[in-house]
Order: sequence, then C-alpha cells, then structure tokens
Amino acid sequence: MHAMMLETAKRPLVYKTIAVPVPSEEEVLINVIACGVCRTDLHIVDGELEHPKLPLIPGHEIIGTVVKTGKRVKKIKAGDAVGVPWLGYTCGKCRYCINGQENLCESAKFTGYTIDGGYAEYTVAHQHYCFRLDPQYANPSGAPLLCAGIIGYRSYSKISRRSKRVGLYGFGGAAHILTQVAVAQGKEIYAFTSPGDTAAQRLAERLGVVWAGDSTKPAPVKLDAAIIFAPVGSLIPKALSDTDKGGTVICGGIHMSDIPSFPYHLLWEERTVASVANLTRKDGEAFLELAPKVPVHTETKIYKLEQANKALDDLRNGKIKGAAVLVLN
Ligand SMILES: [Zn+2]
Ligand SMILES: [Zn+2]
Repeated sequence: MHAMMLETAKRPLVYKTIAVPVPSEEEVLINVIACGVCRTDLHIVDGELEHPKLPLIPGHEIIGTVVKTGKRVKKIKAGDAVGVPWLGYTCGKCRYCINGQENLCESAKFTGYTIDGGYAEYTVAHQHYCFRLDPQYANPSGAPLLCAGIIGYRSYSKISRRSKRVGLYGFGGAAHILTQVAVAQGKEIYAFTSPGDTAAQRLAERLGVVWAGDSTKPAPVKLDAAIIFAPVGSLIPKALSDTDKGGTVICGGIHMSDIPSFPYHLLWEERTVASVANLTRKDGEAFLELAPKVPVHTETKIYKLEQANKALDDLRNGKIKGAAVLVLN
C-alpha cells in the first residue's frame, strides 16, 4: 500500500510503498476513504510535539471501511463505515481512566503520533476506539468531525451553559464546525481570525456568527466565554480582555507559543483560563450523535495522499478555508 511517512521530525513526509498492516485480535483493518489534516499533525511534523513513533504514518481524522476484523472483535464487521480519532488506546486501570478522565490516561496511545494513523491506504485501529458513523459522514466531509469537531465540542462543553456570547479565536477546522453547533443552540458567536483573513471572516458570517473580524480588534461586546483554537499564546491575555466578569477562556489546542505576561486585572473578577487535552470516547459519541442533527456541514479543501506535504504547508500558511482532507482512491 502507499503511505506518507514521517521519518525524521522537521523533514517533509516521504511517499512510500509498504506492507498492508495486519490487525491483531482486538483490531480492525480499515480501508481509508479520507483522512483530515489537523494542526496537531503540523506540530508533530515540525517537531513541536516530541517523541513521536518513528517512522510514523500521521493522521487522526480517519474515515474508512472495515475490511477485516481480528478474532476477538465484536460489534464491528467487514463493510462497516467507521471513524478513527486521536485517542487510539487507554489502559482502563490508571487513576485517570478510573475517574472518567481517560483523555489524561498515563498509558494512552494516540493515532498518528504514538501509533500509525491514516495518511495511508489502510490502517488498523483498536475495536473500542473506532466510532460508528452516520451514513452522511461516511465520506471525506466527515473527516474533520473526528478531531476538529470532537475537540471543539469538548472545549465548548467546558464553558458554562449560561454563556450566551462566545468568542472563537482562530477560525479553521474546529471553529467552523463548532459555530454550527453553537448557533443551533442559540449562542451568539464572535469570530476572531488572523488579521486580514477575510476569507475566514466571510465563511464565519455565512455560518451565522454575529460578528467576524481581526483578532487584533477588541470584541464589540463583553463576552461570556472565549475558546482559543489558534496556537498563539498572546491570544490568552487578548481573550481575557474581551471577556466579562466571571467569564471563561478555554484553550483547545495541544501546543501554543509562549504566553506573554499580563496584568492581574485581566484575570481578576473570577475569570478562568483552562485547557482541553485530547478526548474521551464519551465526547466522541456525544458529538457524532449531535452532528447529523444540527446538521453540521464541513467546508473542506481536498488533496490527494501524495499531496500531504502541500496540505500541511497550506495549513501552516493559513491558506485553508475550513479543513484540509486527504482523499484516498
Ligand atoms: Zn489509563
Ligand atoms: Zn487533531
């Protein structure tokens, strides 16, 4: 099969022909239909996330069809459409797993980081870490739901239900999906983009935000909550300054540039800053059940497998409206 592989961090991926993986007893073999390109992939390729498996097949927004199942696989059969997310395995025994915080598991494995992912024609996944897909998402449009969608939803679940005015900082894969969910629930969304990114601002307006503009501009009203998806540490004090008393600022990304120091009064009056790490299977199930009801439509830019380096470059340079997806054929 063909795969795009990371052999050394900070080097482009290499197009390779390798053997189709063999599923273990608990795994399924999946013929990949599409795999989304997430900013986390960029952090791995650029060496900002350390100690990946090497060589590595990146990619953790996988849509595919099961072609073979291991001996002990139940409930999934050949022909089923499944989605594979970032969380590839948890131990079930550590104090985090026992506490319902499997996203923080001490022995977790992550798809496309510590185990191989979906930038390939085939991949294997553990039976308990695949999601069933609504038929409308069993195609490339479903790929961004698997990380951008689920992580955005987990970030959103960390803000108070009473929050009405919600700012989203960085308007790419995650924000364009979350906007649709939040607007359907009656939230007022304020979209902050890189300065001058009018394409992202127009997309945000089309999806129903009440305001879209440059992240350097102050919010037009005091926000109840803010979610930061852009990997830019200076957005934390900026979002705090846009947020009302008692408000929450959630950081949804896995990596961020350093946060500059800022005066205490930005945090005072019971504002909170918190981060979101990874996902639980519960997050995935809840979001994938909700998405078809909204219904969420993704905006995708399609690339072939061998164009993965181009897709990563376009993401790095802010050239993608919505989400980038590799399509296998
Ligand atoms: Zn664990
Ligand atoms: Zn991701």
